[in-house]
Amino acid sequence: MKLPPRPNTYRDAWCGQLTAERADTTARVAGWVHRRRDHGGLIFIDLRDRSGIVQLVFHPETAPEAHAEAHALRSEDVLSAAGTVARREPANVNPNLKTGEIEVSVNELEILADAQTPPFPVDEDVAVDETLRLRYRPLDLRRKPMLEALELRHRVVATMREVLDARDFLEVETPFLTRSTPEGARDFLVPARQQPGSFYALPQSPQLFKQLLMVGGFERYYQIVRCFRDEDARADRLPEFTQLDLEMAFVAEEDVIETMEAVMGAVFERQGFDVLPPPWPRMTFGEAVARYGTDRPDTRFGLELHDLGEALMATEFKVFSDALKAGGVVRGINTGRRDLPRSELDTLTELAKHHGAKGLVWAFVQPEGWRSPIAKFVSREEMKAINTRLEASEDDLLLIVADKQITAGKVLGALRLELGRRFDLIPETPHDVRWVVEFPMFLWNDEEGRWEAEHHPFTAPTGDLDDPAALLSRSYDLVLDGAEIGGGSIRNHTIDVQQRIFELIGIGPDEAQARFGFLLEAFKYGAPPHGGIAMGIDRIVALIAGRDNIREVIAFPKATSGGDPLTGAPAPVDDAQLRELGFRLRN
Ligand code: ASP
Repeated sequence: MKLPPRPNTYRDAWCGQLTAERADTTARVAGWVHRRRDHGGLIFIDLRDRSGIVQLVFHPETAPEAHAEAHALRSEDVLSAAGTVARREPANVNPNLKTGEIEVSVNELEILADAQTPPFPVDEDVAVDETLRLRYRPLDLRRKPMLEALELRHRVVATMREVLDARDFLEVETPFLTRSTPEGARDFLVPARQQPGSFYALPQSPQLFKQLLMVGGFERYYQIVRCFRDEDARADRLPEFTQLDLEMAFVAEEDVIETMEAVMGAVFERQGFDVLPPPWPRMTFGEAVARYGTDRPDTRFGLELHDLGEALMATEFKVFSDALKAGGVVRGINTGRRDLPRSELDTLTELAKHHGAKGLVWAFVQPEGWRSPIAKFVSREEMKAINTRLEASEDDLLLIVADKQITAGKVLGALRLELGRRFDLIPETPHDVRWVVEFPMFLWNDEEGRWEAEHHPFTAPTGDLDDPAALLSRSYDLVLDGAEIGGGSIRNHTIDVQQRIFELIGIGPDEAQARFGFLLEAFKYGAPPHGGIAMGIDRIVALIAGRDNIREVIAFPKATSGGDPLTGAPAPVDDAQLRELGFRLRN
């Protein structure tokens, strides 16, 4: 707490800030009963407020009335108490507590509210079922890890605001009730009462509005903003989440990157998060995928992927030759000297299949060849060539996947992470932060047989628009320890290019007009070159806090079901409400 509380009838000091300096003065504190202990005649209460904990002591002789009342106190009762700040006997000093040298000898106690026995202990950091924690979130928030996480979150956001304010960014709010925005997820829809049959969509991001703010001449915009995407919740993804969203006019990639390095560099530094100061290294998408099988590589450990195609030009092993003939790849990783039993190799094979592989080849390198189910199908020369390519030595375990390039990368990338964790190869620190750049503009959507924007369709391409497969985009992602924490791009600011991009992804002029006409129209009146980025605040805070679940850094998150055990949302509504909206449920 930066300032002492304004003295009132409840308190004149924060519990956690009473130290020996205040010895022999009087103080009034308020808060919750964290713990109580009876020692012979004395009653001890650890009293907790947001600032911390202070010990209250009730003496039967000197304050019989308060002492008698204190008998009734139970965990989490709410009280206000006044007394003298007294030094503890040296033997009773608690070095783990900031206030551990003193206690408040109470002579006046007021019990302000009773508490029922909480459904889980608030005073200990014990594992509690998450649904129970979410159901009783106000109590869960009283627990120290939650307070610390939300304090950290506050500081992170405050730093972002401070750095951006110093750089003349304006914080501008954009609407929640709007039209579908193009981040590629499913929209949450809100029925419009006044136009039955019409719907607002909740924004998947403020993308179009921030571009309009650039047309509007704001030059530098940011917003700490909620975004909504109707996707299945996971540990690192919830249907609503918070971004630091920003956009700048008359800029190129370097300008946005430098701005974000200033913001995130300050965030990391102030939180003592162990990363190199910016500028941060950059890796191309191509290199990331080739070496790590993913566009968000965790480069803190090895086990890199290698292409084995060249070693297998003439292979007669059908699994390999078929993949290569079909334009696919054979790629592998050397996991090092490992002695995995068959059951664990089967588990890895299952994992590979889970990520889309048809199978997984494993091979232990031995002086006379490989110990592997495929040993008899692969020639000694091929084994040798692969060993060389993977820099393998005796007893190393090699894992090989033959498949389409994307699948092989995805599978080996996932195996690499799993093995990194399992073999404890990933050093906690220093953390790794880097940009990934030079993304392809489009990805081919096999199911729908059409191109899809890799970032979003407002991203500016580089290259020849007549060769969509070869187009790169002017986008950039920031990756921290293998997690994408932000991404953005330089945008199209001319109607021509924007319309060509729409065409390439199968949005014809009429559809473009219907969905994004307001943006195209704004471009008619002089749009500056512009670009921006958005950072995922939930994930950033979780990574800094070292929590593996973003719900741990959100006050009132949804559960993985997408529901909220606290409020019961989503919930049915009554017929009258539906009728007003022009709806009737079929069942
Ligand atoms: N709107 C994008 C997103 O939410 C970020 C950006 O391009 O600025 O991912």
